[in-house]
Amino acid sequence: MTTTTDIIELSERHSAHNYHPLPVVVREARGAWVTDVEGRRYLDCLAGYSSLNFGHGNQAILGAAQEQLQRLTLTSRAFFHDRFADFCAGLAALCGKDMVLPMNTGAEAVETAIKVARKWGYEVKGVTPDHAEIIVMDGNFHGRTTTIVSFSTDPDARDGFGPATPGFTVVEYGSAEAIRAAITPDTVAVLLEPIQGEAGVLVPPPGYLRQVREICTEHNVLLVADEIQSGLGRTGDTFACQHEGVVPDMYVLGKALGGGVVPVSAVVADADVLGVIKPGQHGSTFGGNPLACAVGSAVIGLLNTGEYQARARELGALLHERLRALMGHGVIAVRGRGLWAGVDIDPSIATGRQVCEALMRHGVLAKDTHGSTIRLAPPLVVSEEDLNWAVDRLTEVLEEL
Ligand code: PLP
Repeated sequence: MTTTTDIIELSERHSAHNYHPLPVVVREARGAWVTDVEGRRYLDCLAGYSSLNFGHGNQAILGAAQEQLQRLTLTSRAFFHDRFADFCAGLAALCGKDMVLPMNTGAEAVETAIKVARKWGYEVKGVTPDHAEIIVMDGNFHGRTTTIVSFSTDPDARDGFGPATPGFTVVEYGSAEAIRAAITPDTVAVLLEPIQGEAGVLVPPPGYLRQVREICTEHNVLLVADEIQSGLGRTGDTFACQHEGVVPDMYVLGKALGGGVVPVSAVVADADVLGVIKPGQHGSTFGGNPLACAVGSAVIGLLNTGEYQARARELGALLHERLRALMGHGVIAVRGRGLWAGVDIDPSIATGRQVCEALMRHGVLAKDTHGSTIRLAPPLVVSEEDLNWAVDRLTEVLEEL
């Protein structure tokens, strides 16, 4: 069982078809490059949906994981362990907040933020019990749990999974006025992605996040930033909110926090917010486990150097300049920030899927979203030469179509 065809055939037979992967079977990886079972090499321009910001096989992360694997992997939160305090204190400091609530996946962290916001609403703001409302955005992507898909505006994500969880109001993304108009005395939080990743790397208009911050402060509503995909270096800053000098009340983090090794997510906030959660009210067997904390602490150490943010900033400028030059040559729009780009392909030429399949044949792995968009998000360790090479391959593919 070593050929691509055999492995894909067996996978399709015995796994649910909840994804539509590109037909490549990866066996190993280093830095920004992966190798498939046939020995072919590809530049990874997806980076596990931004989970691999620090590259495949990052030695600082792997070293921390290997050392921890030998010593202690799980205690559950029934006991303290010796990696917990450093991780929580380090992450709180990175965010400029007091407290961390560690979980595993992104969706779990979003669920946690929703629970915390509701409880804060009842206990601190004084909202009538069971009336809390959270304002969310059109085009949002926050994960796949039943509550989260209840307020998705993507029919594929939402339809067929009802009944929907109540308590969410959807407004237009990018319009601060729409948020202001939707706020009621029962509103406890505004939940948004500072840049909408799955929607196609949509960057809101300048000033939007700042205005939302002002509105939330004015109305005593929590601003909850889902930085699961946008955070931890991807956009050229530690958090995408920083581009507008905005500090949310709650950060929701995941993906790259686990260094591409283990699932690590967290909600980070001040004590007046996270302090509403008391023993027995929320938890996770694996949340904050020793292995996760060791890996998470290594990730925080890398981010504290500032090196990865700087790479995303500098190489991101190059990426966007080169992608903009493709406008009118099969590309109709380019969006994004840092090493993160959404590229709209002229739908009269090809679908995003067709472009990604062609890119794969040319040695570049990327993923389409919403029909005609491809997104590019290589590991932040990618070299300038490799980045240029990837855009050359995209240029070639567009010329061939
Ligand atoms: N929030 C955002 C912004 C995401 O991009 C994602 C995943 O793509 C999630 C939440 C869900 O994370 P997970 O797949 O780890 O549950």
